[in-house]
Amino acid sequence: MKQNDFELLEKSLDATPRKLLHLVRDNATQRGSPLYIVGGSVRDLLLGRRLNDFDLTVEGDAITLARSLASKYGGAVTAHTKFGTAKWFLPKTLKTDHDTLDLISARSETYKHPAALPTVKLGSLVDDLRRRDFTINALAVRLDGSHFGELRDDLSGMDDLQKGIVRVLHPRSFIDDPTRMYRAARYEGRYGFKIAEDTLALIPEARPFVEKLSAQRIRHELDLILEEPNAVSILKRLDELDLLSVIHPALAKFNQSRLATVKSDEAVLQNRNSRWVLWLMHLKDQEIEFLNERLHFPADLLKILHSAALLNANLTAVASLKPSKVVEMLEGYSIKALEVLSSAAQDEEIKAILAKYLSEWWLVKPKTTGHDLKKRGIPPGPRYAEILRRLRAAWLDGEVKTENEEKTLLDHLLEKA
Ligand code: ATP
Ligand code: MG
Repeated sequence: MKQNDFELLEKSLDATPRKLLHLVRDNATQRGSPLYIVGGSVRDLLLGRRLNDFDLTVEGDAITLARSLASKYGGAVTAHTKFGTAKWFLPKTLKTDHDTLDLISARSETYKHPAALPTVKLGSLVDDLRRRDFTINALAVRLDGSHFGELRDDLSGMDDLQKGIVRVLHPRSFIDDPTRMYRAARYEGRYGFKIAEDTLALIPEARPFVEKLSAQRIRHELDLILEEPNAVSILKRLDELDLLSVIHPALAKFNQSRLATVKSDEAVLQNRNSRWVLWLMHLKDQEIEFLNERLHFPADLLKILHSAALLNANLTAVASLKPSKVVEMLEGYSIKALEVLSSAAQDEEIKAILAKYLSEWWLVKPKTTGHDLKKRGIPPGPRYAEILRRLRAAWLDGEVKTENEEKTLLDHLLEKA
């Protein structure tokens, strides 16, 4: 890397993270510890993207470095001696978007079983680069002392970065860690890169090991994909590579999902949970349950997914109903599911009804309250709810339009009783 590339680093950081980086660099220099910025941050820097954070690796002892920084500038350190990693809880003056800074000792990793978590040993920088997923993520830039700005490209990441290629570092990579196949598609989609042919050729052998990934790990990858602006093309690609059905058969045929075709740029469709809903709303309620056994959705998302699937199956019915009946039907569904289905509805009439429900109808209440009924001497009981529901329906269906008209209807209802 040339010195002016390095000015890029300086420019691409806000003042506080820049100051933080300088402090760490100066401290490493004094201690004679080789310090590198590594991985995704180097990649993004060289692609001219703005950095939100940076990953730092020390050749040697990251924990001592972190402790020395904390004793000088404040904050606290937690350390994992086994992994040689330290987390510096930053003092107020150095906090950015992040409250902590990770300092990692360069290490090597080996995998005892496919899809298992790795065994870690301290190592050199090149060991640390070799344990990574792709060549484009295996670049480092040295920061300490006179080495400042030196690019470490031991694994030819620069060439792939310039050509736009996602390439694993060794043929067992996807078997060691099948999440990397999903990461490869994510980088491809994010940067408009291509997975190298020889890397693609490794997928068939590694595909069966997806089954061994824990719910948490595979769902995390899908979550990350759903946060990408290009989520749809990434998922299409994964489906073509037969990497969705191996997670669960209910995820096959991505193209049949609403997410594959939705064009709308409405804000509600841009967040992760909405995208989960769009992806899965065509499934049967029971399929959502089976899928949950594989992916362990968080409870709030699971509720929305069930609600969306049920709603989607019953939705056409709303078109023929009076407003009060629409409200009766929709009241049990999650608002979030209703919002997404409303934004994504293809039938204009249904879309308008859902929009009306969400903007007005669900909030309609009669003026009369339980308190008023009590004052009129009606004994408390299920009749209260019945009367109030009847009055609400009258407002919704336009039978009453003023408080007086409501009173007249109430008198009438009470006379009848
Ligand atoms: P993003 O911009 O999505 O955060 P990133 O490259 O920073 O991309 P992280 O998940 O933050 O990705 O990981 C940081 C670095 O750690 C990566 O650049 C890569 O070098 C390494 N890494 C992450 N996940 C894996 C993995 N599953 N296998 C090997 N190396 C990985
Ligand atoms: Mg990152």
